[in-house]
Amino acid sequence: MTTKIEKSRRMELRWEVGNRQLPEIPLKRPHGSYCMAHACFNCRKSFKQAYSEAEATCPQCARKLHDMGRSFKAPKANDAEQWEKVKPLWLAGFRFFSYRSYPAQNLSRSG
Ligand SMILES: [Zn+2]
Repeated sequence: MTTKIEKSRRMELRWEVGNRQLPEIPLKRPHGSYCMAHACFNCRKSFKQAYSEAEATCPQCARKLHDMGRSFKAPKANDAEQWEKVKPLWLAGFRFFSYRSYPAQNLSRSG
């Protein structure tokens, strides 16, 4: 068995020679690689976009998109009453996520 001191000595030799290679650590993204629903309250549309550190903008009006959560189902664009409910929920911090088989609250079906 190699002692800790011997391992340490070998490691320093490898550093000095320059053949010590560090393992590549993959960057961890907080939301994984799946797409999230982003809503534009101006256009009343939802766009699925991959997580990004940069602020998402609406492809139609170029205003800021709002991260709604993965389970958000957008109401129809002409359903102003439902969209009027979505914005205050988002402002209050509500996000649409499901947990296992329990679906998130879905405003587009709640009549
Ligand atoms: Zn828009």
